[in-house]
Amino acid sequence: MSEPKTPQAWANQISAILNAVLGTDRFPVDVSDVAKEISRSRFADDPITLVKGADLPGFEGALYPAPPGKKGWGILYNNTIRSPGRICFTLAHEFGHYLLHRRTSPQGIQCGQENVALGSLDSDRETQKRMEKEADTFAAYLLMPFDDFRRQINPRETVDMDRLSACAERYGVSLIAVIRRWLEYTEKRAVLVVSREGFILWSYSSEPARKTKAVFRTYGCDPIEIPPASLAANPSDSLTDTRTGVDLPINVWFAEEEVKEMAVPSEQYDFVISLLLLKDRDRHPGLEGEPEEDAYDCLMKITDSR
Ligand SMILES: [Zn+2]
Repeated sequence: MSEPKTPQAWANQISAILNAVLGTDRFPVDVSDVAKEISRSRFADDPITLVKGADLPGFEGALYPAPPGKKGWGILYNNTIRSPGRICFTLAHEFGHYLLHRRTSPQGIQCGQENVALGSLDSDRETQKRMEKEADTFAAYLLMPFDDFRRQINPRETVDMDRLSACAERYGVSLIAVIRRWLEYTEKRAVLVVSREGFILWSYSSEPARKTKAVFRTYGCDPIEIPPASLAANPSDSLTDTRTGVDLPINVWFAEEEVKEMAVPSEQYDFVISLLLLKDRDRHPGLEGEPEEDAYDCLMKITDSR
């Protein structure tokens, strides 16, 4: 088997192996096992021999070469992380670094919680950003393959928080990670807004939403206040309503757009996750839409890891 060159191709190749061995109903992925098995069979002289929690102050996870005289690599995650979903994503992220970057970073890679700049010990900032993004892409493809996700939720189907939570459970990842992934393939106009203390921390829009300018730009701009009439600003007593969605009139979130908003607190109750669903709309031919926001990966790490 030839060695894949991209994060997607690596994850797809491993997914195909897992499908063949375990069948398609095989989630969540046991990253620790898979990393050890795959690395041993593909790179017998240079395998991952250790995966464990460790005291890593200031780091989310790390990929380290074995001490001198020993062969192989170790994946470590910060043992103060309480969220199993976050640990799973971190392990997959570090496995991605192993597959894609260990040869160019022989001293190892440390991954920070609040910014990606820690990155590799051997490379410049732009390279580090690219490597972090590639490791995140690998993790998302490995843990939540689109073919399986599309079977759980059809791209044309609408969703609510309960269905998305069920997928988070299936894949062993956080609710935010699963919503972010759903937004990558859904044909619905939908926007994820993560807010804290009245301000948007970051936001991500599905492609159909971006094409119709339903985006919040948070990187390099003044902070955006959440609308006073939104669910995010008014945590409700009625949990059911906020999980299934409340219809909000035009001009609450977007001018001239009605929005169905669902909102839930994060696992640690320190920020609010809102999902905004907009009405289907015919694509406007020739409309360029908004580009994807680049800061997302970094920002997602901040909010997703606490
Ligand atoms: Zn990393």
